[in-house]
Amino acid sequence: MKNILIVGGAGYIGSHTVKQLSNSGYNCIVIDNLIYGHKEAVLTPYFELADLLDKDSLDRVFKKYQIDSVIHFAAFAYVGESVQHPRKYYENNVVGTLNLLDVMLKNNVERIVFSSTCATYGEPQYIPIDESHPQEPINPYGRSKLMVEEVLKDYHQAYGLKYISLRYFNAAGCSKDKDIGESHSPETHLIPLVLQAIINQDKPIKVFGTNYDTPDGTCIRDYIHVEDLAVAHQLALEKLNQYSGCINLGTGIGTSVKEIIATAELVSGQHCPVTFTERRKGDPAKLYATNNKALEILGWVPKYTRIEDIIQTAWDWIKNKRY
Ligand code: UDP
Repeated sequence: MKNILIVGGAGYIGSHTVKQLSNSGYNCIVIDNLIYGHKEAVLTPYFELADLLDKDSLDRVFKKYQIDSVIHFAAFAYVGESVQHPRKYYENNVVGTLNLLDVMLKNNVERIVFSSTCATYGEPQYIPIDESHPQEPINPYGRSKLMVEEVLKDYHQAYGLKYISLRYFNAAGCSKDKDIGESHSPETHLIPLVLQAIINQDKPIKVFGTNYDTPDGTCIRDYIHVEDLAVAHQLALEKLNQYSGCINLGTGIGTSVKEIIATAELVSGQHCPVTFTERRKGDPAKLYATNNKALEILGWVPKYTRIEDIIQTAWDWIKNKRY
């Protein structure tokens, strides 16, 4: 049984990937500093509290377990905060990853799947966005992820590191088993905030902008179910010996903010209180992916293509959140 190190495995996408891999017969070892992660979300007995800025503790984990490959989720991911505190983002997301790579190479571990993001593309120059779209991120968070992508390319050339960078669009939904799910503090993402507004009718969802160049005036995004992302990580892990490069993970389907709200009302059977406010800075009108490369390289096709099914899983979780 192969030992896979899941860095940031107590987070939203990491914890769903641990579950997916464990169910497929891998032995998952989770490292997390629990700043944003949840211990309750870690569905493997092998948990190590460690921080990427502490190389010695990382090295101890690599010495304790015979690690085959790494999946790296650990990052700060609040766009607004990254603009206010760029140092924090470059240190954690870039320096932290350099430390991880140092320790990997020192211990002869040369395979890594990396969590990247569509935020590395910046303002879309055309849509749908394919992997050759120019990468001009518009905030430090996106730049920190792009820097790591570049580092991985260089390490591949220089040291033979095998890597796949997965560029997620909007991760959404929760495990269909309702055992793990999305829980951020503070929460900034649309779907959980809409569902919270339905549960707590005193706190309306703020819709950021209604005059975008879209059919209903609100922003369009590509919502991809977290379990589909988890499957893609397993497929990427299993492709590392044959392919290194960057791959989009999205459904290719765009859904507007108003459509999300209407669908959440349908799923819950309840009204969602809404207020309409100014645009949020840095939000492009439309963002959705082409996912042909994921199919071609990984043989990956998302199972969840109906937004109502994605929101249903988020609703089932949020009503009885465990953490
Ligand atoms: N959004 C919104 N109100 C909120 C949070 C988000 O109208 O309280 C909109 C946001 O402008 C964007 C979409 O919902 O168009 C998705 O935003 P989210 O923060 O979930 O993800 P992002 O696309 O920024 O990664």
